[in-house]
Amino acid sequence: MKEEVKEKEGALLSKTDRLRFDIVKRSKEATLARAGVIHTPHGDVETPAFIPVGTKATVKSLYVDMIKGIGSEAVLANTYHLYLQPGQEIVKRHGGFANMMNWKSNNSLLPTFTDSGGFQVFSLGAAFDTGVSKIATSESLSQKQKEILDDTGKKKIKSSNNQMAKIDDDGVTFKSYIDGSSHRFTPETSVQIQHDLGADIFFAFDECTSPLASKDYQISAMNRTHHWAKRCIDEHERLGLSAATGARQAIFAVVQGGAYEDLRKESATVLSCMDFDGFGIGGSFTKEDMHKTVRSVTENLPEGKPRHLLGIGEPIDFFIGVEYGIDTFDCVSPTRIARHGNIYSKEGRINILNSKYKNDMSPICDDQDCPAHDYTKSYLAHLYRSEEILASSIASAHNLHFIIKLVKNIRNSILEDKFFEYKKEFLEQYYISK
Ligand SMILES: [Zn+2]
Repeated sequence: MKEEVKEKEGALLSKTDRLRFDIVKRSKEATLARAGVIHTPHGDVETPAFIPVGTKATVKSLYVDMIKGIGSEAVLANTYHLYLQPGQEIVKRHGGFANMMNWKSNNSLLPTFTDSGGFQVFSLGAAFDTGVSKIATSESLSQKQKEILDDTGKKKIKSSNNQMAKIDDDGVTFKSYIDGSSHRFTPETSVQIQHDLGADIFFAFDECTSPLASKDYQISAMNRTHHWAKRCIDEHERLGLSAATGARQAIFAVVQGGAYEDLRKESATVLSCMDFDGFGIGGSFTKEDMHKTVRSVTENLPEGKPRHLLGIGEPIDFFIGVEYGIDTFDCVSPTRIARHGNIYSKEGRINILNSKYKNDMSPICDDQDCPAHDYTKSYLAHLYRSEEILASSIASAHNLHFIIKLVKNIRNSILEDKFFEYKKEFLEQYYISK
């Protein structure tokens, strides 16, 4: 079906074409919101879109047919994790991570993203809890950092008492969370690895700062990110086509600047002058900061290039992001919370381990397009209580389907000029009806 759409639009790029972004419709109500299509050499992504995260070239517990079945048009993998395991050489020998994980339709690769590894290097290395230090020991890891580790399947770091990451102007030296071995990422090596991973869209190597860092530190980190951005573009130009797929890859900058609006504006303006195909918005910020941060960035980015909000994924975030001009999102949240028995519903998030669901014969989901529609809540509760691995598959498929469809519905609301009507309707039911 996807193939038919491509033919109808005549929009499929050749392998060596540069990424193209078409804005199909601008919202009449929310002036920054738009619906569009990102054309990559391996297919199209209709935006706004949620991109499921396949950290290690697997969307946890889901076969590729399931990922396609829940409506996903692209997958985002993680440079840091694939570099450590199985290593980019092995991924390159597979023809890139999409080919390795069989992310294909009719034997053609489907669209993919990779992040730069910057966030993982710094969030596992930076002392997010203690200030500006870029040095942390495993004992001082914050809850957020522990969650990142948990998402890798490792419960603890084997190399305790070791510094996890150290930054200088040229790059960052860090220890593997797996065995404590020492590694170094520079802008050049991050780009080289991402060429071997072969994603259609990859991100420049950036410094992701702690939200607690001082403004002085944010300024120096932002300037470093800008210098690194230029080095990433140069290395990308030097390498040419992806060594893994033979296709042209698009490179997105990552706008930094913490929670400071003036720095975010400056970062967006500086990076806009470089030859990037699109832009990511990175960093950690509070919910309140997110509104003004996203807006101050998107208002200063070129309108015709796509914008990606990195690692943000609560239902309300999609409405805010889209309203302020975001086109794509990724987040591990839907599959992570699924593994703990939390599932989305139109009336808010529920935990299936609550005893009231033991005898609940209603379907997990009332959406007939969802793979979880055919199972009862009682059955899913039973699977969790008996620690059956199918529990994670069903819950992950449902949660991702829920989020992907929510963002598609937001897209449709822009096309129909009903963005605010849909926003009010969804959020009232989701956050207030409980
Ligand atoms: Zn569902």
